[in-house]
Amino acid sequence: MSQNKIAKKVQNLQSSAIRELLKHSKMDGVISLGGGIPNPDLFDREGLQIAMDQVLSSAWKEAFQYGLSEGSPELRAAICQLLAERAIVCDVDDVVVTSGSQQSLDILARALIDPGDIVVVERPTYLAALQVLQLAEADLRSVGTDGDGMIIDELEALVKTTPVKAVYIVPTFGNPGGVTLAEHRRKQLVELSQRYDFVIIEDDPYGEINFTDKTFTPLKAWAAESGNSDNVIYTSTFSKILAPGARVGWLVVPGWLKRQVVNLKQATDLHTSSLSQSLTYHYLNSGRLAGQIALIREAYKHKCQTLCEQLESALGDHLTFHKPMGGMFLWARFNYPMDTTQWLKKTLANGVVYVPGEFFYCNDPDHATLRMSYVSVTDENLKEAVLRLKASLN
Ligand code: PMP
Repeated sequence: MSQNKIAKKVQNLQSSAIRELLKHSKMDGVISLGGGIPNPDLFDREGLQIAMDQVLSSAWKEAFQYGLSEGSPELRAAICQLLAERAIVCDVDDVVVTSGSQQSLDILARALIDPGDIVVVERPTYLAALQVLQLAEADLRSVGTDGDGMIIDELEALVKTTPVKAVYIVPTFGNPGGVTLAEHRRKQLVELSQRYDFVIIEDDPYGEINFTDKTFTPLKAWAAESGNSDNVIYTSTFSKILAPGARVGWLVVPGWLKRQVVNLKQATDLHTSSLSQSLTYHYLNSGRLAGQIALIREAYKHKCQTLCEQLESALGDHLTFHKPMGGMFLWARFNYPMDTTQWLKKTLANGVVYVPGEFFYCNDPDHATLRMSYVSVTDENLKEAVLRLKASLN
């Protein structure tokens, strides 16, 4: 069958560089700082077992049946409660359950973007969001980030001269940059979205994985405080705090977009797995989530600290990085010209992998950057990984 039968917009669709890389990380003896997946040793097997037993004993008819495209009303009500703890006030009708926030992004891209529409992302940004936005044929622009997240002054200069349709942002403990948008910038971004009438797609998978005792109020909540949250669409997920294999995430959709989002969800997969929704609902109902989040926070915080210390002592003269305040990723940059994609061959030969930073840019990649995930690596291996990175500089 000839290649030209394939739709033009998917002909050049790349497999995620990270997924390709994970193949290497499975090789014997290789320490992987590459994958972005949660630590499976921390999954609450017991709690999930109890919830699953409840599903199978008392909710099995609904769990094995078709359901509403919006998602199960009881799960959506439980999500509203969870959101209230994040300062987001919403109603069951505002929530649409998705098969993970990746699907939320895909649905939003299809609901909002016509080919050529200008969408702004952070530099660097989440790779799979780039895939989705490129598939939607968005005209992608990027705005720089520093230790306080997206540089909103740079965004302002852009929106003053350019008709921006949407800004996609991971404001809290971002992937890949590990940075968090400062409070004054959150207010500034929300205010800009109202003044220049663009949509903010707020992707918040990591907000609960907070290593500090500060709270980072979502953009959605800041917008509501200013009296109008219609421009902010919020998505989050149970993937990082419960189990990514369940594939349960959600959207908080403003009224003007609700019908289209539900219709797109219907066209995509009718609804998110009833079994997964029921499992998630029963888990939430058990009251174990708070303890589970606390466990994940502590464990990831410790690992992050270990990696930071090792990097500072062994590679402090070579790399600069911002210490993450939460989440799963540390982003670093060489202090001198370096191509981290080339360097990976050397580090792989020395038994350690990471993700070269260039894949997280929609244009003008910074080749001197790299992303490291610390969450699934033992303390001992974090230390060994840094030694191997150092040895690879020779
Ligand atoms: N957004 C970001 C920023 C992510 O890092 C991820 C997971 N890697 C997702 C969305 C997708 O998560 P999921 O579909 O598992 O909810």
